[in-house]
Amino acid sequence: MAIPTQTNVSSLIKQYDALFFDSFGVLIDGVNALPGAIDLIDRMNANIVNYFVVTNDASVSLESRVKTFAATGFNIPVDRIINSGSLIAEYYEEHDLRGSSTLVLGTQDSKDYAIASGAKLVELAGDIEPDVVILGHSGPHDWESTLENLLALFSRRFQENNPVRLVLPNPDFIYPNGPSNFGFGAAAFVDILEQALVRLHGSHDKLIASKLGKPYSPIFTAAVVRAGTNHAVMIGDQLETDIAGANNVGIDSAVVTTGINRRSTPDEFKDVDDELTPRYILASLV
Ligand SMILES: [Mg+2]
Repeated sequence: MAIPTQTNVSSLIKQYDALFFDSFGVLIDGVNALPGAIDLIDRMNANIVNYFVVTNDASVSLESRVKTFAATGFNIPVDRIINSGSLIAEYYEEHDLRGSSTLVLGTQDSKDYAIASGAKLVELAGDIEPDVVILGHSGPHDWESTLENLLALFSRRFQENNPVRLVLPNPDFIYPNGPSNFGFGAAAFVDILEQALVRLHGSHDKLIASKLGKPYSPIFTAAVVRAGTNHAVMIGDQLETDIAGANNVGIDSAVVTTGINRRSTPDEFKDVDDELTPRYILASLV
């Protein structure tokens, strides 16, 4: 049974060759900077610490994210941010998808990530059928009719043995959306489509979504490549995404208590699966 130890961020900087930070719940609470976070980033910029913000965001461009950080008081250069939107380019490269007809359900920035990756954008139920569907941020669609259209497409292409490729940059199932409110992430809609295909065809094995963000490995692999080292520690607030994802790729992890995780002592991790248990607990970034 793994039991985490309490530490502080200065000790992690000394110990590791690179630090990876989740954004929401670690650096910002959705509106404001969390305690110690701005100072820490300033210190790391000044001392040229090898750090990256590793976030599941695929709905805004890296440039817009830099501006949002700046409005909160952070000086985070664009080359210090790795988000799941920017992984689409590598995905297209790796799977030889440049020029593929692609439907993007998401923001204009999500569409721009796809265009920059070589995708040829098409509309749902348009003249040209998509060979790739990128399921981005959950709004603003009429999801019932969108899902019905997708199901018809996936089902027919499944029968033709020519499955549509489905890409899920941000695999969050739900996300916090203000106090006591939650929104459904794109993963929730993928789940519905998979269940529907199982009912129709007994299987969804030809519709396996490629998941790029945390807790899946592509985003961590990208972070390791960018950092030039796997002697890194992932600092996050969600056991299921930040911590499990880091553990799965063999990176050490530290959980903060400023976001979704509220466990603050080693004792409180006694009943937590090893897969979800961080190596460290950080009371804050101070
Ligand atoms: Mg978070």
